[in-house]
Amino acid sequence: MASPGTVRLLTALWEGSLDEIRPTLDVDTGEVTYPDATQQLDERDGETFDVLETLAERDLLYREFQEKQYICPRCEAKGMQYTTACPTCESPQTIRTDRFRHPDCGYEGLREQFVAEDDVMCPDCEAHLESLKHLESDAAHICEDCENVFETPEHRLRCRECLYVAPPLQTIERILYRYYISDQGVQWVEEQLTARQLVVELLEARKFETTIDTTVTNESEEEIPVHVFAHDDLLDDRIIAAVHERPDENDVRELQSVASDADARATLVTTSGEIVGNAIADVIAANGMSVLRLTKNDTLRREYKIVEETDAPNSFVGRIADIFKPQNG
Ligand SMILES: [Zn+2]
Ligand SMILES: [Zn+2]
Ligand SMILES: [Zn+2]
Repeated sequence: MASPGTVRLLTALWEGSLDEIRPTLDVDTGEVTYPDATQQLDERDGETFDVLETLAERDLLYREFQEKQYICPRCEAKGMQYTTACPTCESPQTIRTDRFRHPDCGYEGLREQFVAEDDVMCPDCEAHLESLKHLESDAAHICEDCENVFETPEHRLRCRECLYVAPPLQTIERILYRYYISDQGVQWVEEQLTARQLVVELLEARKFETTIDTTVTNESEEEIPVHVFAHDDLLDDRIIAAVHERPDENDVRELQSVASDADARATLVTTSGEIVGNAIADVIAANGMSVLRLTKNDTLRREYKIVEETDAPNSFVGRIADIFKPQNG
């Protein structure tokens, strides 16, 4: 969770070098990106939008509605355009006009049918009228394709790419948000940076040379981002340290695998003192991983507590379920 990229992103928001994360819409392709956030993240962090949503679910970022976007269900192009359409043949080629009705005989027609050369006349009962004011009028739409006349057109969305026309409910809806750092996010970054700095100081006091937010090469020759890399050339000793709030089994195993590929020892720092997962104690013991905890007094202590996995209280499903919960009273 607390990947080096995530820490970089939240640090930029915390320092103010980035004041918000805005979606950018490419007007040609309709594609939405978050370039400011993508720039801070690593490729291994995955889709920027997913990272932002995960951080928002954890209340580290808060989000503000910006706009809604509709995606074509046929070709998946983004940014469909609103159009009205004929209720009979679905054609978007409809014209808005007025429909007139002669109240005496009930005849209905378009303006042109009532306007003669120099007066107004009902084409049905041939009554001469002083003006169009003697007729009742209504808004009407005419379909240029099937010539149907109707009162209310259908609401449709039209794909700019494949020109497919679909009812809004059959398209894919996506809500675009802007993201800002929350108070909880500020606290999270401060703890992350404090813990990282303390580990660096601890290693430097032991004569290690340290690099913060760097990469190491794994067995498949990939560059893997790490929080801290420390080495002692004289004794040929290496340490890779990772800082997490509440690391889970994945975090522990990933740190272990990066460290073993780099022929380094692994140090895990938690800012909560907790590690999630039942089988984790064996993994830690088997690999001789050091686990440290950031205390309230900003010191590092060699301790941790194993806790069981619980559902994220703020997950999207959780929030939706709350909305649909039967209301009492
Ligand atoms: Zn399309
Ligand atoms: Zn008439
Ligand atoms: Zn039609």
